[in-house]
Amino acid sequence: MASERDYDVIIIGTGAGGGTLAHALAPSGQRILLIERGDFLPREKENWDTNAVFVQGRYKSHETWRDRDGKPFSPSIHYWVGGNTKFYGAALVRFREQDFGEVRHHGGLSPAWPITYADLEPYYTRAEHLYQVHGERGADPTEPPASAPYRFPAVSHEPRVQHLYDDLKQMGLHPFHLPVGIMLDEANPHRSRCIRCDTCDGFACLVQAKADAHVIAVEPALTYPNVEIVTRAFARRIETSPSGREATGVVVERDGAVETYRAGIVVAACGAINTAALLLRSAGERHPNGLANRSGVVGRHYMCHNNSALVALSREPNPTRFQKTLGLNDFYWGTDDWEYPLGHISMLGKSKAEMFKGDAPFFTPGLALEQMARHALDLWLTTEDLPDPDNRVTLDRDGTIRLSYRENNNESHRRLIAKLKGLLSHLGCEEHVHHQSVYLGKKIPLAGTAHQCGTVRMGHDPATSALDPNCRAHEVDNLYVVDSSCFVSSTSLNPALTIMANALRVGDHLLERLGVSIPTPVAVPAD
Ligand SMILES: Cc1cc2nc3c(=O)[nH]c(=O)nc-3n(C[C@H](O)[C@H](O)[C@H](O)COP(=O)(O)OP(=O)(O)OC[C@H]3O[C@@H](n4cnc5c(N)ncnc54)[C@H](O)[C@@H]3O)c2cc1C
Ligand code: SF4
Repeated sequence: MASERDYDVIIIGTGAGGGTLAHALAPSGQRILLIERGDFLPREKENWDTNAVFVQGRYKSHETWRDRDGKPFSPSIHYWVGGNTKFYGAALVRFREQDFGEVRHHGGLSPAWPITYADLEPYYTRAEHLYQVHGERGADPTEPPASAPYRFPAVSHEPRVQHLYDDLKQMGLHPFHLPVGIMLDEANPHRSRCIRCDTCDGFACLVQAKADAHVIAVEPALTYPNVEIVTRAFARRIETSPSGREATGVVVERDGAVETYRAGIVVAACGAINTAALLLRSAGERHPNGLANRSGVVGRHYMCHNNSALVALSREPNPTRFQKTLGLNDFYWGTDDWEYPLGHISMLGKSKAEMFKGDAPFFTPGLALEQMARHALDLWLTTEDLPDPDNRVTLDRDGTIRLSYRENNNESHRRLIAKLKGLLSHLGCEEHVHHQSVYLGKKIPLAGTAHQCGTVRMGHDPATSALDPNCRAHEVDNLYVVDSSCFVSSTSLNPALTIMANALRVGDHLLERLGVSIPTPVAVPAD
């Protein structure tokens, strides 16, 4: 069965990119449709149940993809209204000014973006205020300039993390309060929506106090009568006019039926892997290699960071509940003995015994998991991975996503780990390093797709990029992409705030294109 309906704008995907764009466009009065393959996440006790979330994978997609050798794996990806932000750790950091220019790494060159930090700065401020980021300016030595303060004070360290903070300071380093999007009011705990619990990073928030794209952006957008959503609606392909120059609508599979929704502007925001897959599935006579893919870059340059979780076992017990409060960027651009950038270090959500189960043989040289969790300080290390055209998303003949990826820029990551281990060994910690993330609980490193980006890159040159600097497809006049696909480099920092800020930037461009003006939210400090 096919149905046809008309909208001004269709946004496919409701995560950091799509949800934030919907929020920006909602007051315009334009008819907006959100198409989301997932449903609204059920609010239930299992939201905070470690076994349900980490062992049973209750909220994870049950899809199977293939790696470059055709071997199947189960990606750590979440399809819900709000996308992966429902489960994110809400560390909302800006990329550095220099990250937008060309950067020389040990593993090669990280290319320049077609936009500068200055272009994005006002939108970073808007995104920080919208997503209620709690932080402090001036403590992180690599911090870029900001036009307004955070609206909310930094989240305090609990005693064990404060101890680590003090130790690092004493060593002459510059630890800082990690900016996080949680609705915590420490001055008025009785009024605080966030209860500061130990099931945040990797979990959905049962009391909806995490500043995720569903709570912050999609729900408020849906209060406007001109905004609608269809859930459980898988966007199969984007259709174009006979010339191929305009997108005309989106073909959706929903509860066993096929529906077509038509709109003047179509925006893809399915996440970097699924947006690339959608464009590749949308190949047609005028776009034989995939929609907007004359350059051949769609699906290429996949990046996901060199990420490691480091579980440091300290003699001192660690009863911390909300642990993700500390960051360290002293080695971001290199060290005295290494001229290349190393990357970013931050705390992770507090580990629990169940989370270690999958990695038990590696982690338990005679140590009980419970005891290990009780003493664990959990850290996260991120080094930039570089955009290799052969690291890519393709579709197998049966339509299954194939993710081909070879790690790069590894030496800098190894040195970052060594640097942190060196620091911690002075602090009475034994280190247990596991490359590519423990808390996602996956043995296959490729499955950790949390920081996916780069597959539909933006640029000035249609021969080497799929999108122009406004994130509009070079070849399709009314097709846009606002998720992390458009990234030109991955940098060494968490991606979500940049996705949100960029969506607000593209939102302003779309309002101008649609000839609508709505008052720009004023950036004000919190009272
Ligand atoms: C456990 C975890 C912790 C994280 N912690 C952090 C953190 O602390 N800080 C940070 O910056 N980042 C973090 N991230 C990463 C962050 O969540 C992502 O970078 C961000 O959500 C990506 O935004 P996006 O809009 O590109 O895609 P997503 O948020 O993934 O949204 C894509 C949406 O598109 C929908 N969709 C996909 N395909 C289709 C289709 N064909 N049809 C219809 N709908 C479709 C999906 O269901 C989803 O809702 C974390 C991620 C995870 C998983
Ligand atoms: S720490 Fe706060 S925001 Fe995070 S899950 Fe707990 S209540 Fe929700």
